[in-house]
Amino acid sequence: SGGPDDMPAEIWDKVKNHPCYSEEAHHHYARMHVAVAPACNIQCNYCNRKYDCSNESRPGVVSQKLTPEQAVKKVLAVASEIPQMTVLGIAGPGDSLANPKKTFDTMRMLHEQAPDIKLCLSTNGLALPDQVDEICQYNIDHVTITINMVDPAVGEKIYPWIFYNHKRYTGYEAAKILHERQMLGLEMLTARGVLTKINSVLIPGINDEHLIEVNREVKKRGAFLHNIMPLISEAEHGTVFGLTGQRGPTAQELKAVQDACMGGANLMRHCRQCRADAVGLLGEDRSEEFTLDKIEEME
Ligand code: SF4
Ligand code: SF4
Repeated sequence: SGGPDDMPAEIWDKVKNHPCYSEEAHHHYARMHVAVAPACNIQCNYCNRKYDCSNESRPGVVSQKLTPEQAVKKVLAVASEIPQMTVLGIAGPGDSLANPKKTFDTMRMLHEQAPDIKLCLSTNGLALPDQVDEICQYNIDHVTITINMVDPAVGEKIYPWIFYNHKRYTGYEAAKILHERQMLGLEMLTARGVLTKINSVLIPGINDEHLIEVNREVKKRGAFLHNIMPLISEAEHGTVFGLTGQRGPTAQELKAVQDACMGGANLMRHCRQCRADAVGLLGEDRSEEFTLDKIEEME
């Protein structure tokens, strides 16, 4: 069957069995995340470091951190229990590319030991341009970059600091470096044929009107999907925006921005913001069945 909106056939062909990209596939194919990447190289105002990276994951969740060896053991155990498991992602609990050794050790072992599993990762993009070669080397075929702005004046309201080239940057300068690295990373990935999805967190009053421009810029640079997610800002999720108590969008506000971006990069509307150690079909979380103790028992 055809792809959503105006997705070109050759891209649809690559993603139709991917639960995160195809409305149809997410009923039949499973994915899992392994939480091997604890560190982060930037600070988002909406992040609470006690919990998983909220750029890709469900807010307020603490995942069980694994070493690369434990992660590989877990993936192989899950793949033998859940035959529909086709996709393995690294999405935290920090930034996958701020932990390059842990992330790429895991990817290399899986590439060797389970070559049929599709690999993906998500990142804030700061370290991305330096790591495109390694991404291609292990055949990682999908990357998600969280891009919340294409204007550092907007960005400095979202990111208080970044850590780059052994130095901490703040304010406009930090947001400008992050923006330039995100755009460069996106261009490099699409030039190498790596499917790249963009996540944006909709923050009312900060980037709501600006996301149309983000949509235009990422589409121009070859992003194949743009996923606009709501800021979830509730004390019980551990996410308060800076000190200001920023609210999240209403369902109508979210839909209005998603609608305004139609005809731009294809929009994904069924992303569930899964936990960094999610296991199973989307909307079904079997992570409790595959904790480390249980996997050791299975052997
Ligand atoms: Fe938190 Fe993720 Fe932002 Fe890092 S990139 S500060 S882990 S939300
Ligand atoms: Fe897929 Fe979104 Fe879940 Fe990631 S967070 S596995 S993209 S549905």
